[in-house]
Amino acid sequence: KTERNFMIRALLTFHASTCSRFVWRRRQRNYLYFYSGSGCWSYLGRQSRGQLVSLQKNGCLYTDTVQHEVLHALGFHHEQVRSDRDSYVSILYQNIKPGQTHNFMKRKTNNLGTPYDFDSVMHYGKYAFSKNREPTILAKRNPSLNFGTARTMSKNDIARVNKLYQC
Ligand SMILES: [Zn+2]
Repeated sequence: KTERNFMIRALLTFHASTCSRFVWRRRQRNYLYFYSGSGCWSYLGRQSRGQLVSLQKNGCLYTDTVQHEVLHALGFHHEQVRSDRDSYVSILYQNIKPGQTHNFMKRKTNNLGTPYDFDSVMHYGKYAFSKNREPTILAKRNPSLNFGTARTMSKNDIARVNKLYQC
């Protein structure tokens, strides 16, 4: 299947740049179960037993999307909810769709010594969850900066994986 081969290639990008390794499941208790569900999503960090990662056939099969969801599974939050985000971005709550503000809640993240990174594959776009085509996130240093368009993991994304998993 083309989809399956694409997935494997996307997972292999982790082998090329990080120390995480994906193996076919044999009898492991905890494992990732990739399937084509509704939308692209993944749980944060390790869950018990078969952990679902949904990558819908039409819409999620892009290298950056697969990397993004796998990074959630490896324990990483979105970049714009980092503990230190207020020094780098403003969240424009007045432009966020009702019921979506939880997506912008700041988290007590362990940033592992890496800088805030607009090029992270975990960064939302400037207009994420906008109800009125106005930005929901602005870069403080440069409000005209566009971001959240990474096509692949940044060097900070890679550094974090290797730091978290100590390799
Ligand atoms: Zn996400």
